[in-house]
Amino acid sequence: MVTTIIYTILSLSLLGAVAAVVLYFVAQRFKVFEDPRIDQVEAELPAANCGGCGFAGCRNLAETLVKSESFDGLFCPVGGNTVMARIAEVLGRQAVTQDAKIAVLKCNGTCEYRPRTSIYDGTASCAIASALYSGETGCNYGCHGFGDCVEACLFDAMYIDETTGLPVISDEKCTACGACVKACPRNLIELRKKWKGNKKIYVACSNEDKGGIARKSCSVACIGCSKCVKVCTFDAITLENNLAYIDSDKCRLCRKCAPECPTNSIIEIGFPQKKEKIPETAGNNPLTVNKD
Ligand code: SF4
Ligand code: SF4
Repeated sequence: MVTTIIYTILSLSLLGAVAAVVLYFVAQRFKVFEDPRIDQVEAELPAANCGGCGFAGCRNLAETLVKSESFDGLFCPVGGNTVMARIAEVLGRQAVTQDAKIAVLKCNGTCEYRPRTSIYDGTASCAIASALYSGETGCNYGCHGFGDCVEACLFDAMYIDETTGLPVISDEKCTACGACVKACPRNLIELRKKWKGNKKIYVACSNEDKGGIARKSCSVACIGCSKCVKVCTFDAITLENNLAYIDSDKCRLCRKCAPECPTNSIIEIGFPQKKEKIPETAGNNPLTVNKD
């Protein structure tokens, strides 16, 4: 009996030892080498895992940055130029820089400007509402206001304004990760160049209907009249499908276009109030007063 136990223990131990040796050699044979710089690069990234870089998470971007020979097409919008410079240092490469961007909503169809023509009582989701019908207003292009974009934002940079029914984007919190851009079924959010002082000029409309139809559904819709295009000396405005678009890379913020727009669909944010000249009267110098 004792001999049997001893033999059992010995044979099991021998089997275990052989298995360990086999496993060791297999592990050595199939060992995947992981570049230690991946950990270093990942440590520099913001760990937001937002997908703004186009990868599933920060780890994936770190792996690609290390494996790639250049930074072409690789950028962390959340970390921005500072983080990319630190990563360049880790990898001993030339840093790349990009202009900072900010998300803007290309719709100003508030409850005031865009009257409701029907009531939707389905699931409160922009994606679902978009798939089912044109929306609660006569505009087939405007914001549904159910906040799919707000849900998608990991940085708490958006909320739906109860009065206007539209999303509001915080300049301070927005990291330009682009999650909201992907979430909006109506392609209403654009990442545009971020100007100093958060100045912005853009066409806050996405309606491609002809002028009269667009105007009927929303009083601040772009009617494609091309007045803004004609006045822009920097060739920054184009008109396509009855809709004006201001290229934020070409725009110089001269502000000539906004006053030309008969429907106020060009929005100016972050500028000092404009002053208007009062016609010179006999014996007086020209006066300037605030527009409103
Ligand atoms: S507002 Fe949009 S782009 Fe900005 S952080 Fe939120 S999801 Fe990202
Ligand atoms: S911007 Fe797009 S995702 Fe956001 S509330 Fe409007 S329709 Fe929905």
